[in-house]
Amino acid sequence: MKVMKFGGTSVGKPERMHQVAQLITKDNEAKIVVLSALSGTTNTLVAISDSLATGKRENAKQKIDELEAHYRNFVKELVVTEAARAKANAVVTEHFEFLNIILKISFSEALNKDILAQGELMSTKMFSVYLEEKEIDHMLLPALEFMSIDANEEPNLSAISQKLSALLQQNAAKKLFITQGYICKNARGEVDNLKRGGSDYTASLVAAAIHASVCEIWTDIDGMHNNDPRVVDKTVPIDVLSFDEAAELAYFGAKILHPTCIWPAQQTNVPVKLLNTMQPEAKGTTIQENVSEEGPKAVAAKDGIIAINIKSSRMLLAYGFLRKVFEVFEKYKTPIDMITTSEVAVSVTIDSDAHLAEIIKELEPFGTVELDKDQTIVSIVGNELTHTADAIKKVFDALAPVPVRMVSYGGSKHNISILIPASYKKQTLQLLNKGVFGL
Ligand code: ADP
Ligand code: ASP
Ligand code: MG
Repeated sequence: MKVMKFGGTSVGKPERMHQVAQLITKDNEAKIVVLSALSGTTNTLVAISDSLATGKRENAKQKIDELEAHYRNFVKELVVTEAARAKANAVVTEHFEFLNIILKISFSEALNKDILAQGELMSTKMFSVYLEEKEIDHMLLPALEFMSIDANEEPNLSAISQKLSALLQQNAAKKLFITQGYICKNARGEVDNLKRGGSDYTASLVAAAIHASVCEIWTDIDGMHNNDPRVVDKTVPIDVLSFDEAAELAYFGAKILHPTCIWPAQQTNVPVKLLNTMQPEAKGTTIQENVSEEGPKAVAAKDGIIAINIKSSRMLLAYGFLRKVFEVFEKYKTPIDMITTSEVAVSVTIDSDAHLAEIIKELEPFGTVELDKDQTIVSIVGNELTHTADAIKKVFDALAPVPVRMVSYGGSKHNISILIPASYKKQTLQLLNKGVFGL
């Protein structure tokens, strides 16, 4: 059995959905197809939710109406028979009735999650109507019946696996299942989600849960490129990446993959393929356990980073100092991305300001605390990078004009990370593209 996930652009137009139907019926292997919401929908749902949270009901209503008009037009081109159009329109009606009802009830975090779930619910149901019209045998598998996160908002793979296996066993005669990416139930039994871009995570969790032959992530580009194609003009796709390399690239900003979506596939050794819906014959990128090629493979950048420097000549030398510092971050569930130390100071970076004020307050007794906001982590990722003789030289030669704030090298064999002011990001990615990849 295999998993095929299609992202927002891959289902964002009726003709794309038609193409998805072709791609999933090309071979006879049983499969679970994971769909995102139509492109733009989740952004609009976030905006609707924000409007409601700030009491701007008129504004929310206008956005709901515009979104509904978009879906009504979509239905017209998605299906042709009267019966199918009626069914697809009934799906749209059901979900927009819900969105109109929420205009009247008081806003809460649980409601916010319900709003955000509407996109995937609609895309999968509409796709199912299209498959039915085309007489393609399939079954809609509600993600809310098997995809769950625990009290720490972490997916529990064995629970997911148990529930999903039971559902598949009950429907053993079926060969094609359609399910929603992104959405899940939380420990309180409420609708929740796997954070933005989370459909990739769903796909990897499903693939791991069923020990799939492969987890195919179909998107709008022909695989993982060596640099961010939104920032740098000339980038090239990478044929093969190891799980470790892909995980580092995803975590450090390569938007093509959700930041933490690699671990489930890695844990169960299911290969992940990144493929292009618009160009299905392109080779794409295969992510697997071992790779032989050494040296730098790609660069990624993660924005919105805050650097915190704690300076204390007295305490740093004492053991226990770093533990105390880390405990502050642990207390506020704020992960540290980079860390560098000197004799008298330690610098760490975080990517969330949710508890910044509390963290600073608790760090202040340890020494002088300084902040640098608007920073970007740029990561150079590759296999056995630290063993590749000229890798570091090429990186630093390329970076000569850039004011580098922090460097992390040696923590992982696959990664050299630097911290720079966000305003230098474009220049840095371009310089590395030339200096490290000769592009
Ligand atoms: P989907 O909607 O299919 O999940 P995303 O927009 O989340 O698609 O991810 C695909 C996009 O990721 C590409 O269009 C590209 O702009 C962006 N991207 C950023 N970094 C990379 C990279 N290193 N390689 C490929 N794509 C990247
Ligand atoms: N629709 C969700 C989002 O836009 C999940 C996804 O597309 O992966 O974030
Ligand atoms: Mg995505």
